[in-house]
Amino acid sequence: MSIVTMRQNGYGINTHVVKIANRECPCGKWNQFGIPCSHAKKVCGAYNISVASMVKDYYDLMAYKNTYSKYVEPVQSEDYWDISEFQLIHDTNIRISTRPGRNHTTCIRNEMDWQQTRARQEAQ
Ligand SMILES: [Zn+2]
Repeated sequence: MSIVTMRQNGYGINTHVVKIANRECPCGKWNQFGIPCSHAKKVCGAYNISVASMVKDYYDLMAYKNTYSKYVEPVQSEDYWDISEFQLIHDTNIRISTRPGRNHTTCIRNEMDWQQTRARQEAQ
């Protein structure tokens, strides 16, 4: 079933073909969050289907209980660890990168960084 949405001013008309059997909507929210989106809710209402029954199974109470039903062994103090047959040596010259090329920072430099750089350069 397809759902047509529109804004009040008439712009942004979108058509979403909801596939109830596959629990899919092209908007992607249902698949991403596991909870039916507004389009899917509208289709459920049209076909008199319970929206709660369309929520992904991992939100089910039994799934939650099963997830945490097992005992988690706590990690003991390092004193209780087995002695290894080899010694780990930290070599600062070895760097393993998961990506090819040079690493780039994601930090966005601002006025504070500029002031610190300027002060460092002036001190030299
Ligand atoms: Zn949707």
